[in-house]
Amino acid sequence: MYDLLVVGAGPYGLSIASHAAAAGLNLRVFGRPMASWRDHMPDGMFLKSEPWASNLSDPGGRWGLDAYCAEQGLTARHAHPIPVEAFASYGLWFARNAVPEVDERTITRVSSGPGGFTAVTEDGQALHARTVALAVGVMPFIEVPPALRGLHPTLVTHSSHHSDLGHFQGKDVTVIGGGQAALETAALLAEQGTRVRVLARAERLRWNDVPPPWERPWWRSVRSPHSGLGPGWRNWFYAERPALFRRLPQASRSRIAATALGPAGAWWVRDRVERAVDLLPGQEVTAAAAVPGGLRLDLAGRDGSRRSLETEHVIAATGFKAHRDRLSLLSAELRGTLAALPDGSPVLGRSFESSHPGLFLAGLVTASGFGPAMRFVYGATFTASTLVQGVRRRLRSAPVRGAVSVPGTGSRSGSPSPVRG
Ligand SMILES: Cc1cc2nc3c(=O)[nH]c(=O)nc-3n(C[C@H](O)[C@H](O)[C@H](O)COP(=O)(O)OP(=O)(O)OC[C@H]3O[C@@H](n4cnc5c(N)ncnc54)[C@H](O)[C@@H]3O)c2cc1C
Repeated sequence: MYDLLVVGAGPYGLSIASHAAAAGLNLRVFGRPMASWRDHMPDGMFLKSEPWASNLSDPGGRWGLDAYCAEQGLTARHAHPIPVEAFASYGLWFARNAVPEVDERTITRVSSGPGGFTAVTEDGQALHARTVALAVGVMPFIEVPPALRGLHPTLVTHSSHHSDLGHFQGKDVTVIGGGQAALETAALLAEQGTRVRVLARAERLRWNDVPPPWERPWWRSVRSPHSGLGPGWRNWFYAERPALFRRLPQASRSRIAATALGPAGAWWVRDRVERAVDLLPGQEVTAAAAVPGGLRLDLAGRDGSRRSLETEHVIAATGFKAHRDRLSLLSAELRGTLAALPDGSPVLGRSFESSHPGLFLAGLVTASGFGPAMRFVYGATFTASTLVQGVRRRLRSAPVRGAVSVPGTGSRSGSPSPVRG
């Protein structure tokens, strides 16, 4: 019986595992490390978050992105975006150094079992643990607009289905969405010789400003402080005070989680898009149908206009919707016991524990509880330490006969060791 199973080896799962191992918990970590960054983003993308706001978290603060970059001879400076490939490699380095061995198998089922939980691996092994931290990231929550659902994947894909855009060379592609994933995907497509247009519901595309310099007069910092989510007091509150955010009325939290830091392109992608991409803001797809050579999209404009266009492929860069019912690796019985907010996301206690004792959640699915920082790597630092404290409290409050370790004093399940693959 393990103290803790961490399901997911992205920035959140790895950070939780690092804190849990340092606390002496007997744990296992599952998942392909940094899979979202290695398998679901095309080469050539950059992080939108600042390098100093893109750290995975270990209790000693030893394994930050700046330390990795210094070791590799890379630049990690304010206002210098980091390539996605470098960030994925940083995550693997973190996993090798700050986390017990990661088991790359996928967990296919988590159910409640005697004294805690039973998790089943893709090859059928059952493991038992007193607590589980689900850090499965964004992929279970892919959102495609209703008008585009049900079409064949040769015609419609989600932006996160692509790690290589090469097969769209010479084709005509329509990207749906007005956020960074849509705009950067469109720029990469145009630069490789794809005819590309972007359709966005908003009347105008939004672009983030070049961030203010790191060093600046104090009165400028007071007026608009830096924060892990961008400059300004509002962002500072979301980034630096997630525990206070949780005390806001539930309706406000859900509204802010859904709307704060809404779709916008990074300052450094603007020229690349405006130069080469056909931009159609203020348009919504109302229907889509397969036609010879591609598909036809029916569009409704915000001005009441109607039109159609034909394209060879649609990439829906339409984000993710964290809903309890999409946590399909939880058994129906366990999922059914999870209380949910009106927006469908799970109710969480102050330490990220769901309404099912011992089941903890991390990442995007916690944004309605702890705020927009949970949509970004930046939130992993607060999450990892707070969640592991909660796990330790849970283990102390519900001792299990024959438990194998005492949190905080027991032996580590394993010292940091190489990640496979
Ligand atoms: C295109 C794009 C660009 C982004 N850019 C930024 C950015 O610049 N800065 C930023 O802060 N955030 C960015 N984000 C958001 C980013 O996804 C999150 O900040 C971060 O990846 C969340 O980490 P995570 O650990 O919750 O999830 P993920 O990184 O998605 O990791 C989830 C992990 O769980 C594993 N897993 C899932 N299911 C199972 C299972 N059943 N069994 C075992 N393992 C499982 C996966 O293999 C994966 O390793 C971006 C997102 C997208 C889509």
